[in-house]
Amino acid sequence: MGERVDQLLGMAVELPGDWIGTEPREAVKRMMTQLSSRPEFKEAIAMLTERNGPEHVSDGHDDAGDDGDEPPAPVGPIVGRDDPNEAAVEDDLVGCEVTLKGLKSDPGKNGRIGKVKAWLPDRGRFAVVLLDDDGVEECARGPLALKPDNVERVDKEGGAWGERGVARVERIPGAGRGVVADRELASAEANNLLCEPAYATAVNRKRATARCHRCFATLAGSPLIECPCAMARYCSSACRRAAREDPGDHCAEECARGGVWTAMIDETSVLATRVVRKDRDETKRGVERRRRFTDLDWRGVWKATGKDRERRVRAVALACIAAACAGLDEGDVLTAYLVAEGNTFYVKRPVGPKPTAPYDWREIFTMAECAVASALFLDASMLNHSCEPNCFASFPGREIRIRNTEKVQSGGQLLISYGPVAGGESRDVRRSLLSDAFGFECKCNACVGRDRVGSVEFRRVKQTASMYDDRAMSLVQSGDDSPEVLQTITLAARQSMGLLHQLYRWPNLTLAMEATRVAAVESALAGCVVRGWSEGRANGRVDSTSLTMAKDALLCLSAFTEKRRDRGEADGVVERARDFLVNLLISHRRHKPAGWNDVSVSSQVNFFCMMHEIHDGP
Ligand SMILES: [Zn+2]
Ligand SMILES: [Zn+2]
Ligand SMILES: [Zn+2]
Repeated sequence: MGERVDQLLGMAVELPGDWIGTEPREAVKRMMTQLSSRPEFKEAIAMLTERNGPEHVSDGHDDAGDDGDEPPAPVGPIVGRDDPNEAAVEDDLVGCEVTLKGLKSDPGKNGRIGKVKAWLPDRGRFAVVLLDDDGVEECARGPLALKPDNVERVDKEGGAWGERGVARVERIPGAGRGVVADRELASAEANNLLCEPAYATAVNRKRATARCHRCFATLAGSPLIECPCAMARYCSSACRRAAREDPGDHCAEECARGGVWTAMIDETSVLATRVVRKDRDETKRGVERRRRFTDLDWRGVWKATGKDRERRVRAVALACIAAACAGLDEGDVLTAYLVAEGNTFYVKRPVGPKPTAPYDWREIFTMAECAVASALFLDASMLNHSCEPNCFASFPGREIRIRNTEKVQSGGQLLISYGPVAGGESRDVRRSLLSDAFGFECKCNACVGRDRVGSVEFRRVKQTASMYDDRAMSLVQSGDDSPEVLQTITLAARQSMGLLHQLYRWPNLTLAMEATRVAAVESALAGCVVRGWSEGRANGRVDSTSLTMAKDALLCLSAFTEKRRDRGEADGVVERARDFLVNLLISHRRHKPAGWNDVSVSSQVNFFCMMHEIHDGP
């Protein structure tokens, strides 16, 4: 069935490309006209949206009402908006506030603010009503007819960001909008800068059978709770209920439309339809939000697809297919698709089930993360990119949490990394990845500053480090616990870490994780009774140099994760690594093994335990 989607994509490539250079809404409209005239298209959509047999359970949803979009909103008395598609030719300006500019006939109006009431297709102009200083429409003289060149959208998305009032959205010279701190932010603030629930999500197709589609927890070992349509599965009935009620998820409406298409098409397309449905639902219900999905950047991605015909055809064709399957407007779905391409966060979780003995050194050594879902967040998407970011995102449940990992001056920009950080890839590779995916040229400090190491040297160091890493990993996986093997693993891990130190700037997650691995294998080498750690029984001892390193790594990892009282709830590899180190250090503090004389380590751990409310227990 997945080949149906591929066939449709193949068909789209063959179509005449008269649309290719037009604006997104026009492009997708033209392609839809071409596609929908083909019987193969109709047939394929019918198959993709076919209902499941008799086991399909209706939830009382009135199917007849699903297809119709809302009637177009009434506009000013002078210009009607009869055909929403016509009005949408000049993408999303209708209903927006604009600044007037470049008027030669009436230059006094330049700089004034107006509101676009309609697009007049036959005249190629916008109908714009001027607003007075209080934002009230000046209706007396009727709307002006203005060329697209004479209006520029007012940036209304500025202002508040997050719930804590510590940062705001601002225009950043040369970088569109960004988030800046409203006051000085201490390094690793105790609270998250942002906790934002996902606006919409789509589970990763490869993980669709292994993960709860709502909270993305692993389904291994739990009873199967499926949606009646069998297209979504959950860890609990609470998750299933929550999904049905959320238009940003596999909601009752999506379910009632039926079909296998959500499992056959890429998750970005699924996400795009959910974004559109959520927006439509919230608009209908009058939900107030600071910004809509259309306020996020999609032009960068559209521009990037302009360099790659195949990618542009694919984006437009997928929007057509997804819109037809979901019963939504293809222009809206394409905008949402472009927004999703440029703004999606990948929710990551550790690979495999949650370990029952969380402090096994092997698990700490080999744990890895995988992307389990794509998610859109309206506030978090305002953050700009840097290859040396000062903020870090984590994804407990369906939320995104943003923490700053170093001090940020008041007025300083909050930055996350969209791709590999400096040290992860060489400057050239990073810049071309960013420009291909998001359509911008990275001008971060790491990209415009002097290279720490040249790109030839970079590749050499990286290759050698990963060679050591592979050696360590294969020995860990061999299961051999003999002291000789553990010694070899320790050496290899230390070599790899030493090399990576040349590439990364501290505080850095990769380095801290590498240090945690070294601590893990050294604890095994020292003969610690690892399974008893949570009860504080360590028989062996880890030498004080390694403990110092573990402490540094712990402080670093703590900057990336939030304070959690309920230990054992760790749902990311960073949290797990941090828990591991806390236990390692606590158990050594209690038992005061030989070599535990380093006052500074001891007091730091005491401080950390105090800070994180970890007690010695009875
Ligand atoms: Zn769940
Ligand atoms: Zn369903
Ligand atoms: Zn950069």
